[in-house]
Amino acid sequence: MANNMRRSVKIARQNAGNWTGRANQSDERIGGTPPGGGEELSGPQQMTIRQPAFLEGVGLHTGRAVRMAVKPGKPDSGFTFVRTDLAGSPEIKASVENIAQTVRCTTLGRGGEAEVQTVEHLLAALAGLGIDNAVIELNAPEVPVADGSAAAFVALLERAGMAPQQAPRRILSLPEAVWITGKDSHLVALPADTFKVSFVFTNRHPAVGNQYAEFVLEPGNFKREIAPARTIGFMHEIEALQKQGLALGGNLDIAVVVGEEGYLSPPRFPDEIVRHKILDLIGDLAVLGPLHAHIIGLRSGHSLDALLARKIQEVASG
Ligand SMILES: [Zn+2]
Repeated sequence: MANNMRRSVKIARQNAGNWTGRANQSDERIGGTPPGGGEELSGPQQMTIRQPAFLEGVGLHTGRAVRMAVKPGKPDSGFTFVRTDLAGSPEIKASVENIAQTVRCTTLGRGGEAEVQTVEHLLAALAGLGIDNAVIELNAPEVPVADGSAAAFVALLERAGMAPQQAPRRILSLPEAVWITGKDSHLVALPADTFKVSFVFTNRHPAVGNQYAEFVLEPGNFKREIAPARTIGFMHEIEALQKQGLALGGNLDIAVVVGEEGYLSPPRFPDEIVRHKILDLIGDLAVLGPLHAHIIGLRSGHSLDALLARKIQEVASG
């Protein structure tokens, strides 16, 4: 494995400290009640956003126009989607139990009722920036694709600002290794005292090749090193998907598109594709809340991510 493919980036996940947002202490619903009559918490605090932020766009797979509002969330509430276009505005919590589908993207929902599709890049941005609680309102079944990465969501959340909450951050940790093996893919989670991902992406296309990257997550580095990475799209696959009625919101700007001769749109990093695999993994594991583990992925994708999240939830404590 070529050394220049390696990336090792150190990040502190507990403390989203390079943000300047301040809690709105007067808002008890969001900020929570200070324990012990207003004492400061000694450990890391939960984080939400300071004010609502809005983004309009189209869904990648549905091609439907969507307006999204990300709003502050209560302590210990995690990430909750709300389908404002449906009767009664049903809520769908981002949880292991609510992972409904993992074909091409991750869909959350319960028993075929309200669903929300392609949640992974937004959830990665939230988790990658150290946000614990947020409410995401959508007037369509799919999160906007933006530029195919998490960069637009990071910008959106930065505009909203960070708000520490009067509740301690609960970080899951593993007592032992767990793993999932697919047909020709593997995903392992090892006990660790940070959140770290090592990933191997393999590909036979001479212009793409095999890619390896390793990251220890922290907010500043997520924004710079992972958030801008887009997914790979092979021209022949994109055409086939669109014939099936998928990837309808797709175009050459929202993916690293590869044709027979090579890249059809310039990559943002030499190893953009493996960075996007890490982005997807961070988003898919965000249903667990904050986690300390070393995740090692080989050729894995959304389906294995969901199975690993379930295994981690079974054994982890925090
Ligand atoms: Zn993705």
